[in-house]
Amino acid sequence: MKIAVAKESEACERRVALVPDTVTQLVKNGLEVLVESGTGERTFFTDADYEKAGAIIVKQTKHLWAEADILLKVSPPRKRDDGILEVDLLKQGAILIGFLNPLGNPGLAQILAERQVTALSMEMVPRTTRAQSMDALSSQASIAGYKAGLIAAAALPKYFPMLTTAAGTIAPAKVFVMGAGVAGLQAIATTRRLGAIVEAFDIRPSVKEEVQSLGARFVEVQLEEETATAGGYAKEISEASKKSSQQVVTDHVKNSDVVITTAQVPGKKAPLLITREMVLQMKKGSVIIDLAAEQGGNCACTDPGKDIIVNGVNIIGPINLPSSMPVHASQLYAKNITSLIRLLIKDKDLQVDFNDDIINAVCITHAGKIHSPLIQELLS
Ligand code: NAD
Repeated sequence: MKIAVAKESEACERRVALVPDTVTQLVKNGLEVLVESGTGERTFFTDADYEKAGAIIVKQTKHLWAEADILLKVSPPRKRDDGILEVDLLKQGAILIGFLNPLGNPGLAQILAERQVTALSMEMVPRTTRAQSMDALSSQASIAGYKAGLIAAAALPKYFPMLTTAAGTIAPAKVFVMGAGVAGLQAIATTRRLGAIVEAFDIRPSVKEEVQSLGARFVEVQLEEETATAGGYAKEISEASKKSSQQVVTDHVKNSDVVITTAQVPGKKAPLLITREMVLQMKKGSVIIDLAAEQGGNCACTDPGKDIIVNGVNIIGPINLPSSMPVHASQLYAKNITSLIRLLIKDKDLQVDFNDDIINAVCITHAGKIHSPLIQELLS
């Protein structure tokens, strides 16, 4: 069975789907691993590193895609600069695994179904204990949260820690993290380690203990309704709850040196947490890092991918932060993907077993049909 690692064709994608260590593990399991020449260039792995790990280097993109029984990617397949539609290169019945953004771009799922591709989307891995080793959303969100803390510290025209010097005492920076999921918790941990005083807010009250265990203060808001799904994700909140939470958080935003926003609701536009009026009330020189920039932004002033100043407030809307730390991002993603491949292979045979709850959840297209009810709904 041939597992192929495609070179990412998007300029902003520096991650790779398999690192050499994971190639070695798959080869030991009796699988043939093909790697497109130059795949690891931007992750600092050479073709020779992959060859040493047991991979076969393939020079021609078309050849690699056509040979694959399982094709691995990070970003969704796309129309390349040379006009080639990557999905057209796959053979019928092949399995494609990657971040396929099915909730943001259900049209791609439609095309994959038409091409008879079995597509497994890493965003759809359930957040269960059994699926933890495959949870690529978490492994990558953790990197984004860490990097957000570092970007904030570099952009703030102040120290983060309290310093007592011969020239006087410097007060610690105040950081406010909005959305305490995986990225938010890592942003809290990172900014705390750098010495800031950290507060955090989330509509899910269950995260209070996790926030406190990292040494931050949890900002409590009484909301009108249940705010989490049975799966532990946030729900979109009512207008009344939006209003009451905004009243409470406005003061915290106003008094902070740094606000890091990470709030998301799966499959929906990111909730608006910071209005323009709130930005205008912030201190000049303060910094907002909006990790939801790609999903529409948690701040009304965010310009995705840009670093802008509004009334002296530096608003940074980074895109694809995990790709800016490609070595560890790829190492973790490769582990997630390898765990998923292990579920697919039984006695050296490829089996898409829908009785397995993980396979059933990650599979978005199979045998010419959209498999995921969530995506069927989006397309109807
Ligand atoms: P996410 O990226 O979807 O959202 C980030 C955070 O934003 C969440 O904590 C959410 O509650 C919060 N949020 C949404 N709307 C908001 C609003 N209006 N105001 C403030 N905050 C808002 O979340 P995630 O980091 O992917 O994690 C989602 C859930 O999955 C969490 O409960 C997490 O603990 C859980 N999880 C479980 C496992 C596991 O059991 N294996 C693994 C990872 C995550």
